[in-house]
Amino acid sequence: MTAQPLLITNSLSRKKEIFEPLNPPFVGLYVCGPTVYGDAHLGHARPAVTFDLVYRYLKHLGYKVRYVRNITDVGHLENDADEGEDKIAKKARLEKLEPMEVVQYYTDRYHRDMDRMNVLRPGIEPRASGHIIEQIEMVKAILEAGYAYESNGSVYFDVPKYNESYQYGKLSGRNVEEMMAGSRELDGQDEKRHPVDFALWKKASPGHIMRWPSPWGEGFPGWHLECSAMGAKYLGETFDIHGGGMDLLFPHHECEIAQSNAANGKDPVRYWMHNNMITINGQKMGKSLGNFITLQEFFSGTHETLDQAYSPLTIRFFILQAHYRSTLDFSNEALQAAEKGLNRMLQAIQTLDKISPEPSSSVDVSQLRNKCYEALNDDFNAPQAIAHLFDAVRIINSAYDKKDSLTKVDLQELKETFNIFLNEVFGLSATIVENQEQNTQIISGLMDLILDIRQQARKDKSWDTSDKIRDALNDLSIVVKDGKEGASWEVKK
Ligand SMILES: [Zn+2]
Repeated sequence: MTAQPLLITNSLSRKKEIFEPLNPPFVGLYVCGPTVYGDAHLGHARPAVTFDLVYRYLKHLGYKVRYVRNITDVGHLENDADEGEDKIAKKARLEKLEPMEVVQYYTDRYHRDMDRMNVLRPGIEPRASGHIIEQIEMVKAILEAGYAYESNGSVYFDVPKYNESYQYGKLSGRNVEEMMAGSRELDGQDEKRHPVDFALWKKASPGHIMRWPSPWGEGFPGWHLECSAMGAKYLGETFDIHGGGMDLLFPHHECEIAQSNAANGKDPVRYWMHNNMITINGQKMGKSLGNFITLQEFFSGTHETLDQAYSPLTIRFFILQAHYRSTLDFSNEALQAAEKGLNRMLQAIQTLDKISPEPSSSVDVSQLRNKCYEALNDDFNAPQAIAHLFDAVRIINSAYDKKDSLTKVDLQELKETFNIFLNEVFGLSATIVENQEQNTQIISGLMDLILDIRQQARKDKSWDTSDKIRDALNDLSIVVKDGKEGASWEVKK
């Protein structure tokens, strides 16, 4: 464990602050999850891995973390504001599916991709469509408090009115007057009173499939409302950490703050954390730019931009090698470097077991673990901690080459340090090792069985069968050698 306090850069204060949970040892963590109308891409992987690190590290420090990450399955309109078609309804229309079929399909695929990257699932994964009642209650509370108005069956949040008592824009640093001046004049036909107002509840047009009864007629919730309602329901009206991508800071998170203050009179979140964006060869990712690479395409190497396939844990390591608040640029070279680095590290862990302990150590490894804690306590500085682990890799390789020596205690210390940081906190080695072990067990069991059948065939002089087995194995680059103690096999290099 660690004596230094954990510092978190709070987007609200724009400063590093000492993390002090409201009700230790409990921590409430809410992260905006995906809108499930398409496959997950690199842009989804970054917040998932970033907040997986936060979740894992907080748990490692001994906190009891309640981690809520929502699934947006209604209300997210095409242009991220209050207009356009619902993203999920549109996909359902194009594919001739029920909206909930689209939601289930892409939720399952999201889980599959994140599982492969060893991203732990949250404790609660609430869906917006499962919390319509809570959202309606919140709209009612905001209306009662006088910070919203009904207009033609929709309900809008009154931003200028709210700004008289609170500060709209305190998270994003925007100023309501400037926003008003910079936006187009409303033409009187508009349902909104001011261009900066946002929808809490939208009236459903006749063709709109996803609709629920409400005091204002049939409709659906505004996109920002679900996170306010579900955050409060599962974590309380004020909770510890809210995370998400920097692209959500405005308007989504700004609106969440306004909604909660208007409904409950309380700031909802104590520490706001935002991960920065991913660029591809220096360019922003965007559907129109054709550089939207899905995680599946990364894992299989099937996108034209990719030189090769990249394993899920290589993607994970690549993301962790940059600080979450810096932009991260994807390129084949960068991912290949990550792949090499990760393999070098995993190799070193295996090498550790082969080093014979010496009576004294020629290098000091006692501070390594503490340095990793220092890095992570400094706003989850994973790249710094990884750099310290690479120092350990160099020491291990040099001890293996007999250029340095390590005592039994120091070898054990290195092992534990890797176990804590690489395995537990970064989630990088356990799966590989487990998968490899599991695969190895299955393969050796199957090979025993196959060689038994072949042995029996030879005894029975069924040469056809034994030749067939030999040839099929040969096609798989497996060579069988017959010896006095029976047959053995190895994979051709
Ligand atoms: Zn959200």
